[in-house]
Amino acid sequence: MPSPTPNLPAFRHDRTSAAENLNVKGGNEPSGGRPVREYCGRFAPSPTGPLHLGSLVAALASWLDARAHNGRWLVRIEDIDPPREVRGAARLQLRALTALGLVPDEPPTYQSASSDRYGRALQLLRAAGNVYACVCSRAAAHRATRQEGLAAAVYPGTCRNLALPDAEAALRVRVPAILMSFVDRACGAFCQHLESEVGDFVVRRADGLWAYQLAVVVDDAAQAVTDVVRGADLLENTPRQIYLQGLLQLPTPRYLHVPVVRNAAGEKLSKQTGAQPLRLDEPVMELERAWHLLGFADTGASTVGELLAHAVQAWRARWVAGGDLQRADTIGSGTLPLSP
Ligand SMILES: [Zn+2]
Repeated sequence: MPSPTPNLPAFRHDRTSAAENLNVKGGNEPSGGRPVREYCGRFAPSPTGPLHLGSLVAALASWLDARAHNGRWLVRIEDIDPPREVRGAARLQLRALTALGLVPDEPPTYQSASSDRYGRALQLLRAAGNVYACVCSRAAAHRATRQEGLAAAVYPGTCRNLALPDAEAALRVRVPAILMSFVDRACGAFCQHLESEVGDFVVRRADGLWAYQLAVVVDDAAQAVTDVVRGADLLENTPRQIYLQGLLQLPTPRYLHVPVVRNAAGEKLSKQTGAQPLRLDEPVMELERAWHLLGFADTGASTVGELLAHAVQAWRARWVAGGDLQRADTIGSGTLPLSP
């Protein structure tokens, strides 16, 4: 039996009834027939522990890009996975950002308060026949993946055509056999075959929690985010997020993925790999380290304000004034080692 053909998305909507249904902000004043969207960036940490140097690199890059574009910068706490959260971590993260001079233009938002919005997005996906229930355990999905000879993390579509009831099931978006591509401002063209490299992906977990992929797409659109600047570990998530934006008829932001910071063993810096919390009594030193990891020479500044003012100018010269793509060689798409 052939698989049902998913509704292929159109990728160039700026404002639609679907977007309005999600309370999404569309373009501002039309200019020459094209909507002009004011630059808006965001930093979106999960409250799983204090900020470390790896998270600071992403926060600083997104803040700088917003300031270099004279745009808005938001902070969104991605607290949709209570089992992984650490009590009080969000408060500590916000305090750290303030100490480092990275202050959002609006009060921070919390994904835990946006459940209704995710529910409306799920309804749209469901109404268009784009999701199905999956009852595979993680172990069963991995076994099936191996039998199909797919990459380890690819779900092989075991439940795709079974029309299972939703109760206690994960909900997956069916993906078509298409090559998705986009141009990252730092990494250049990136292509991914959705069916063979990603597989049908989860938007609501079996335990009822919302999946990151759905929440991030819905919130970026709801907050009118035009530019996503984040760690390169999320580069491979981007094509499926762009696909989801298409299904929900939401605008696609521009993307800039910055290098991931690794420890001496080559592991991505995180609480699990022994990342130390930032030293907030030494904000200039911490910012200088992050700035260096973003590929710039030391500023030699003695205050946070001086350092950030210098950094905005240098960032603008590299990433705004000169045209992003011509500068791609200066940052690369790989990873930078953590200097001792
Ligand atoms: Zn399944």
